[in-house]
Amino acid sequence: MNKILVQDLLSWLDLQLKPALFQDYAPNGLQLQGKPEIKKVITGVTASARLLEIAAERDADAVLVHHGWFWKGENPCIVGSKFERVALAIRHGLNVIGYHLPLDAHPQWGNNAQLARVLGLVPDRVDDGSGLPSVFGRGGLIWSGQLPPQVQTLSDLGHTIEAVMGRKPLLIGNTDRPLRRIAWCTGGAQGMFEEAIDRGVDVYLTGEASEQVYHQAVESGVAYVGAGHHATERYGVQALGEAIAQQFGVNVEFVDIDNPV
Ligand SMILES: [Zn+2]
Repeated sequence: MNKILVQDLLSWLDLQLKPALFQDYAPNGLQLQGKPEIKKVITGVTASARLLEIAAERDADAVLVHHGWFWKGENPCIVGSKFERVALAIRHGLNVIGYHLPLDAHPQWGNNAQLARVLGLVPDRVDDGSGLPSVFGRGGLIWSGQLPPQVQTLSDLGHTIEAVMGRKPLLIGNTDRPLRRIAWCTGGAQGMFEEAIDRGVDVYLTGEASEQVYHQAVESGVAYVGAGHHATERYGVQALGEAIAQQFGVNVEFVDIDNPV
């Protein structure tokens, strides 16, 4: 297995994911410095204490996640469980690397792109020949497209999600009504439902739900699917990890720590 400098990995990640283009809620890139060289990377959705413990047990040098630390608005002091996480990472020399919005949005390895891949959604593309997805909504984070041929109704979509993702989704809307167009944004994008409704799609798919989305769905006639924040964001960091393994020849392992939310 190969060994690379942390700095080389970070430069490559920044080049691919272009964090400077995003107004994010947490720092992207290296959040905590560890060993200067990397042979093994553990990827996961969230840099929780459990993920760090597993990374330490497996002798990893870095943890790469979608949900890192130091979120806007949280207490910045390193106390309590935040201290425990930081101490654990420092004790084991783990580099903690996080990419949030850039990893939702990436046209190939991003969460939206990878959710489309696993569910068979066909994204709309911009018609400039670039092959890039046509995105909309705040920050260009919502994708739209066609459902796979076997998915005709909301009930079909629910079954497909359950079969592929191993989790029963929350479905709001008439389960028998035919669906043609879908919009999706992984994670906690319930606040963008209205933008999807305005776009004229038949169904909106995201991770979480809030109380108000029920009424928005009933009143607009646009169906709503909550397929899990964690569940919808498992695929981007995995795809990015595979790309890192291919690019650098280092050992990359994805660790899925079940999360019902
Ligand atoms: Zn998220």
